[in-house]
Amino acid sequence: MTKKNKNLIALSFDIEDWYHTPLVTGSSFAKYPTLEDFLKQNPQESVDCISDETVRLIEILDHYKVSATFFMVADVAKRYPKIVDALRGSRHEIASHSLTHQSGIDAKSKEPMVSYKDWHNEQAEAKKVLENIFKTQVIGFRAPNAVLANWMLPLLEEIGFRYDSSVAFNTIYNKTNVKLRAIPATPYYINTNDMSADNPTSNLLELPWSNYRVAPFITLPAGGGYFFRLLGPIYFKRVLKKALEKGDSMFYMHPIDISRKPIPAENPNNRPLYWINKGETTEKNLIKMLEEFKGLFTTCKEIYIRNK
Ligand SMILES: [Zn+2]
Repeated sequence: MTKKNKNLIALSFDIEDWYHTPLVTGSSFAKYPTLEDFLKQNPQESVDCISDETVRLIEILDHYKVSATFFMVADVAKRYPKIVDALRGSRHEIASHSLTHQSGIDAKSKEPMVSYKDWHNEQAEAKKVLENIFKTQVIGFRAPNAVLANWMLPLLEEIGFRYDSSVAFNTIYNKTNVKLRAIPATPYYINTNDMSADNPTSNLLELPWSNYRVAPFITLPAGGGYFFRLLGPIYFKRVLKKALEKGDSMFYMHPIDISRKPIPAENPNNRPLYWINKGETTEKNLIKMLEEFKGLFTTCKEIYIRNK
């Protein structure tokens, strides 16, 4: 069987530092309301947990001859030259992970935290910043914290994005502002009202986060990230194999997931498991995934082209 008629896995990395995460900045429950507030009080030198880690990820990918998609926070592209140097002109795809990693809606009420117009302008600016810095076209978007509202979808299409990769369906959490019904675990054109695959109302292709149905009413998250650190490669190998039976799938991580550096003290410690297995354990686990699915990982862009 050639790669052409095999189902593939989009491999993606969200490039944000520890202080872009929702406990620290950019969410309704963050310690600092915005990234700007945080940066005023914290010099950059003391907080970089992702430059060396991103370079290391790229080395690992090169070793396995794998191309991946890097969902860049535009703020990182502006302030982390080592990451830009490592990715510009490389085999990897650059996509957008917003301007500052600010959530667009409140975690609880699901009400917009910014006006639609401001949100539109922010995403358009992030796309432009990334295209200028990396000298490449950006067609993919992932919402910060996977916090996605249905009103964002037509705006993404208007700005010129061709695919989104933010919808995560499971029974543990729903970060969207709509009542998600079971959605496919494979790429689909999205209905901009309820985010389902029924009666698509857009030309925006959704690359949803994978999920794992363990019982009729229990579906577990299987996209990667925190759950990859928590549950490890045995669970994820099983889940991705299941997903590949149905179609193309998606897997994601962060450079910070392999960082050996301690997270600075500003990170609230009310979630003791938040950084579980960060560092060498997760780097080794990523390598196990690359070994297991040799030849099956690719960029989101390739998955988009195959499914459009
Ligand atoms: Zn993120």
